[in-house]
Amino acid sequence: MNIGVLGAGQLGRMLALAGYPLGNRFTFLDTTGSPSAGVGEVIVDPDNQHLAEFLAKVDVVTYEFEHLPVTLVQEIEKHKPVYPSSRAIEVCQNRVEEKALFDRLNIPTPAYRVVESAEQLEAAARELGCPVVAKSVTEGYDGKGQAVLKAPEEAAAAWQSIGHAQLVVEAFVDFVREVSMIAVRGRDGEVVFYPMAENQHVDGILRYSVAPLPDLDVQMQQTADTYIRTLLDELDYVGVLALELFQTRDGSLLANEMAPRVHNSGHWTMDGAVTSQFENHLRAVQGLPLGSTQAIAPTCMVNVIGREGDNAAMLALANTHLHRYDKAERAGRKLAHVNVVAATHTELLEKVRACQALLPDAPPVEWSFTNTL
Ligand code: AMP
Repeated sequence: MNIGVLGAGQLGRMLALAGYPLGNRFTFLDTTGSPSAGVGEVIVDPDNQHLAEFLAKVDVVTYEFEHLPVTLVQEIEKHKPVYPSSRAIEVCQNRVEEKALFDRLNIPTPAYRVVESAEQLEAAARELGCPVVAKSVTEGYDGKGQAVLKAPEEAAAAWQSIGHAQLVVEAFVDFVREVSMIAVRGRDGEVVFYPMAENQHVDGILRYSVAPLPDLDVQMQQTADTYIRTLLDELDYVGVLALELFQTRDGSLLANEMAPRVHNSGHWTMDGAVTSQFENHLRAVQGLPLGSTQAIAPTCMVNVIGREGDNAAMLALANTHLHRYDKAERAGRKLAHVNVVAATHTELLEKVRACQALLPDAPPVEWSFTNTL
């Protein structure tokens, strides 16, 4: 099958690398004008001139980037199967729709309000109690389009700095840790779940994901499985869905946001699980049986952001795998990730700290369970 991919960044690149062993070919449609996939055929089409050419080449269409015009995806759906569907994109690219869906499906979220002026933002901050996080309803990712308000009086400045007509304002969650669920639904409705990962963000950007978690009780994993399954079934979803959650002090899980695609917090599966998220996504969209999501060993994904580190020294660490994206260095840019695999979480922590020392600007590793090891 020739797989059409909307977007042509590192996620598309890794999809292709996982699909070649299955005999797939890849055609990417890049609407940004700056593709970085570096594999497959890339159609650069910022002015929407080459859609027919793309459609003629592909058997099925998926995407690695959800901030696309929904109308474009709906147009493609008229000609070729698109997985996940445009409905999933529509929900995931709009925080109000996403929250409404969580509410309707009884998936708990932080308390929130939707506001459309600086005055309403101030009132919401008073009602919810500061600190609050204000987020643009559309186009936000990696912490962009967000501001934390420590007092309601900061509303005017926050409104100005975000510069969007509609914001979601959330109570600031005093979480124990951030976690994410990656699950895959096949065309026949079969669902498989990866073990939950713990994610460490700095300034809204993911730095470390570790899985499986040594201190996760079965109940919590089951609750997360239920939440994501409800979403998958409701959206009649096909492919990988990522759901980011906060684990609170009382042991509950609050949904933060979801992404209708392979996800950075699932990159650990490339070397740490029986089947990677990328292979399972491709199996799903082609109607093939899904592969085992079981973890092979404790694994940590270390993001390489902005500047590359000492790659040779990292590769000298046993069972450590480097995945570079063929991108030039730039502040805040995801350039690569390193998957570190170890026999125990204690050994894993040592090796991840060794990696951190070899990466400029990598923050100290702060897993919630470090002092239980
Ligand atoms: P988001 O783009 O919504 O994933 O937010 C980026 C990051 O900001 C999250 O991964 C959290 O670290 C932090 N964050 C977002 N919303 C909240 C919240 N309601 N309470 C505490 N931290 C938050």
